[in-house]
Amino acid sequence: MKATKEASVMGTPAEPGAATVRLQCLDKKCGATYPVHDLANECTACGNLLDVRYEWPKIDPAALKQTWLSRKMSRDQGDLSGVWRFREIIPFLRSDESIVTLREGNTPLLESRKAGAYAGVDAVLFKHQGFNPTGSFKDNGMTTGVSQGVALGKKVVACVSTGNTSASLAAYAAYGGLRAVIFIPSGQIAGGKLSQSLEYGALTIQVEANFDVTWKLIFKMVEEAGVYLLNSVNPFRVEGQKTIPVEVMEQLGWEPPDWIVLPGGNLGNCSAFGKGLREMRELGLINRLPRLAVIQAEGANPLYQLIQQSIAQGKSPFEIGLKPVENPQTLATAVKIGNPASWKKTLRELEASNGVCEQVTEQEIADAKAIIGQSGIGCEPASAATLAGIKKLAARGVIRSQDRVVAVLTGNVLKDPAYTLAYHQGTLAYASEGRQLPVASNFGNRPIVVRPDAAEIKRLLTQGSEPRL
Ligand SMILES: *Cc1c(COP(=O)(O)O)cnc(C)c1O
Repeated sequence: MKATKEASVMGTPAEPGAATVRLQCLDKKCGATYPVHDLANECTACGNLLDVRYEWPKIDPAALKQTWLSRKMSRDQGDLSGVWRFREIIPFLRSDESIVTLREGNTPLLESRKAGAYAGVDAVLFKHQGFNPTGSFKDNGMTTGVSQGVALGKKVVACVSTGNTSASLAAYAAYGGLRAVIFIPSGQIAGGKLSQSLEYGALTIQVEANFDVTWKLIFKMVEEAGVYLLNSVNPFRVEGQKTIPVEVMEQLGWEPPDWIVLPGGNLGNCSAFGKGLREMRELGLINRLPRLAVIQAEGANPLYQLIQQSIAQGKSPFEIGLKPVENPQTLATAVKIGNPASWKKTLRELEASNGVCEQVTEQEIADAKAIIGQSGIGCEPASAATLAGIKKLAARGVIRSQDRVVAVLTGNVLKDPAYTLAYHQGTLAYASEGRQLPVASNFGNRPIVVRPDAAEIKRLLTQGSEPRL
């Protein structure tokens, strides 16, 4: 290996490309490795997913932290990206030329005591990925995934999506000059997300089936057609999402919190967080791992079920294996997945971090979302599963009230306005075993319709000026 220049405290970038990189099967027993330009998302020997694995050059953690911070003052697009700013921890590209960035990342960590009080902890710190260019954390992984596609010389990229992946892929492909083909379950994604895909010019195919059925139908077909598949099984997407916890640690002065709480759908993001945290520890950037908590919607809870079964039987969850939820149901469409592709990767990260998995009801998600809204923060339904999960875990004594808790808000409040309106107007309902069940508008805020009558409006105005409790 080439000698590496150490990152200088003066802010000179560490020399890129100094790490060695390969793809490796996640199964330790198999352990097959592949070159980094390999196109497959799965191990050809055993069918498991692949990880991007690095041998790190010697680094000085303090100098690297300084380099990362100093890039915020640069004018280079890569330096300004909240993903590529941390490029030393994702050193898989041979050249910066292939980077496609929309200045993703750089999202705030917002403290809410109100949400903390609701959940039974002192405060919750919300890492709000809804501040991304297309409004979800998918952008953190799409910049790396699409950049790798460009590096591989791909012209067409595709994904199956519950909405946000397609919105993100459509934008990054368009910006990078690639053709995007997206498959979405017809009538099952939020309007904001569908409209984005159309606006960014992706070929948008609505399949009359749910996510799991659509995925099974097309994922081999996409690969065989030579089209680059950018679902979260793509290990380079995981690399980008891995920088979210890096940014969190930087925002916390490199002092790990006690918990990081995430919603779980296809389980790519939990995998990415775990990998990022472990690698930060390997590199000496942090000295311990926060515990991960994955929250699933009760109607789409295969990982939760598996872990419960594993506890009850005293058997390894890997041995039992994931049993898909046949007909997943939740209004939090971003996590409406019954057969998550990255369940093994996420289990590995839960084991490494002494993590937990909890489930929450539709009512709990809806109320938590309203509380996040009332805090002035706002998010889409799936994101609110985090606060609902914290409340449950705190009530069970798993999370203690003084614990430092970071919750990842995965998507923007504007993604699913139909849900928000229905909740506040008291018309929200979800399907369960063939019936429509209502969600109570416990924290609803109905709009008021008035005649153009001065006295009436004045009355409302003074009512509104009373101090709010
Ligand atoms: C994709 C997505 C999730 C689920 O993430 P996975 O990596 O599929 O587990 C949660 N929330 C939002 C808003 C999403 O877009």
